[in-house]
Amino acid sequence: MSENIDETVATASKTVDSGTSVTFAELGLSEPILRALTEVGYETPSPIQAQSIPILLEGRDLLGMAQTGTGKTAAFAIPILSRLDLQNVAPQALILTPTRELALQVAEAFARYARHLSGFHVLPIYGGQSYGIQLKQLARGAHVVVGTPGRIMDHLERNSLSLAGLKTLVLDEADEMLRMGFIDDVEWILKHTPAERQTALFSATMPNDIRRVAQNYLLDPKDVKIKAATQTVAAIRQCYWQVSGLHKLDALTRILEVEEELDAAIVFVRTKLLTEELAQKLEARGYMAAALNGDMNQQARERVIEQLKAGKLDIITATDVAARGIDVPRISHVINYDIPHDAEAYVHRVGRTGRAGRTGTAILFVAPREMRMLRVIERVTGQPIEHLALPSQQAVADRRAAIFKERVAKVLTAEDLGFFETLVSDLATEQEAAPEKVAAALAFLAQKEKPLRPEEKRHAGGEFHEHLSRRSRPMGDARPPRGFPGEVAEDDRGNAVIMTRYRIEVGRNHGVAPKDIVGAIANEGNLPSRLIGRIELYGDYSTVDLPNDLSRETLQILKNAWVRRRQLNIALDDGSAPMSNARPIRKPRSYGEEGGNNWKNTTAAKPRPYRRREFE
Ligand code: ADP
Ligand code: MG
Repeated sequence: MSENIDETVATASKTVDSGTSVTFAELGLSEPILRALTEVGYETPSPIQAQSIPILLEGRDLLGMAQTGTGKTAAFAIPILSRLDLQNVAPQALILTPTRELALQVAEAFARYARHLSGFHVLPIYGGQSYGIQLKQLARGAHVVVGTPGRIMDHLERNSLSLAGLKTLVLDEADEMLRMGFIDDVEWILKHTPAERQTALFSATMPNDIRRVAQNYLLDPKDVKIKAATQTVAAIRQCYWQVSGLHKLDALTRILEVEEELDAAIVFVRTKLLTEELAQKLEARGYMAAALNGDMNQQARERVIEQLKAGKLDIITATDVAARGIDVPRISHVINYDIPHDAEAYVHRVGRTGRAGRTGTAILFVAPREMRMLRVIERVTGQPIEHLALPSQQAVADRRAAIFKERVAKVLTAEDLGFFETLVSDLATEQEAAPEKVAAALAFLAQKEKPLRPEEKRHAGGEFHEHLSRRSRPMGDARPPRGFPGEVAEDDRGNAVIMTRYRIEVGRNHGVAPKDIVGAIANEGNLPSRLIGRIELYGDYSTVDLPNDLSRETLQILKNAWVRRRQLNIALDDGSAPMSNARPIRKPRSYGEEGGNNWKNTTAAKPRPYRRREFE
């Protein structure tokens, strides 16, 4: 494995502008940090690290553009740790991340790099965790705080978190925070931190809103850009299979069988329900598979990832949202069972393999009418995706035979077979059969559970989609009957999701704004913002349109979630707020205009009360 790391990082380093590769020691890092890096197996800095670390050590602002998997965490964590005053246990650095998974991962990385800095304390703060615990942890103090924007803002407003001594602020995955509707919160936090702080902004893409944030809040930043060719996908073999002639499920199992380098795989599908169904089908076919989706609570998700790491699971079926940021080095294969909705999602998915300098394989299933998306992905990533011929049934049979032979060969050399030899020769005598015939009969018995010669169902003609779920049919099929009180939104693949109205016990009188509600539901309920529909604010409560099939777990989490110091106590709306069917679902992003400088404005006439009222 260490060979692999050497090779990949060295190749990548050649693209750093000077053309020479630097070492961590040459970057002027302290001995305890260098020791920790050696221990975690980092031998050379990745390109983004080689470029960012000196800039951040100097105290300058930085605007970094690089895809996932390029090593951004260490790029900001190492200089922050190097500049830390360990005597002063007050937050000196704040890292904002879009999700709690990423907050936890970044906090873990800090702890790993700081293992020889005695007394160092890092604190992850995210929605969904009880305030009681967080308040206690905050009171105890930390040198570095890593958190999601909504919850950090809450603590700043409650004065339970003080950033008076903040030296560095990092916005990690800024484009993702924008996509999830947190950009106003991020700006609010930027305004409530010391002006002389150092700011680093990392993003995989540079949409206008992010560029604007950078212009407004970064001071003469240095640009660091890691070119497409060295991004994520360099060490990853990418191919696609054009869906035809076979069920996708059969194609998947064939591929899983013949791929030689297969260790663990993550299979992406478009809905939460499909993750469950596909995992069950794979289990039924003998794979150690489990689903990973946003309906599962944090603990359940962590358990799945732990099992995958430990080799107790080999396949995870996941949605984009649930799999974001997963870092499990043994994932050798990413299977795009359903094509992603855009190139960015593809890059995020593929970034789950090829971790820690290993190589990986990404396989994309493409229906004929999805070929255009394939070309878009190739253009955006700047890399060709090769055509994959589906392994023939013969190839599967050959592979099974090879594995079978290997097992037999092992027994031949490793086991004492005396008793069985007698058994076989007795059989041969009794049946008047040649020993080969007897061996063949035994081989037949041995493979009965998993036949060496596979059989598969075939389709006739046309375009082939495996509709694993009746509930996730395309739009046309799933429209509710006329007069149904719900509306229909689309999930990330354009499939219909029926929306229904819920009531939450926080309203205009409590100073809530729609985006607070979106933030809480997106982050704590782990729902993509596109599935959060219209929000209506009333005096003491509000209504929000959400998918009608939210799991019990998600509902429980949302019941306990807090906004504006009020527990949401979400429940199906009892009808006291009339449903207006005529209006379209309003997307959360339309609340953007309410953000910005509003906090300075104290006019009581505003529909959304002035935030700072809570300080008064
Ligand atoms: P990003 O934030 O850009 O997605 P991460 O910081 O999560 O990337 O790093 C991706 C993976 O690469 C992690 O497993 C990390 O431990 C590993 N990694 C980071 N820097 C190095 C390095 N210099 N050498 C080897 N592995 C590294
Ligand atoms: Mg990262």
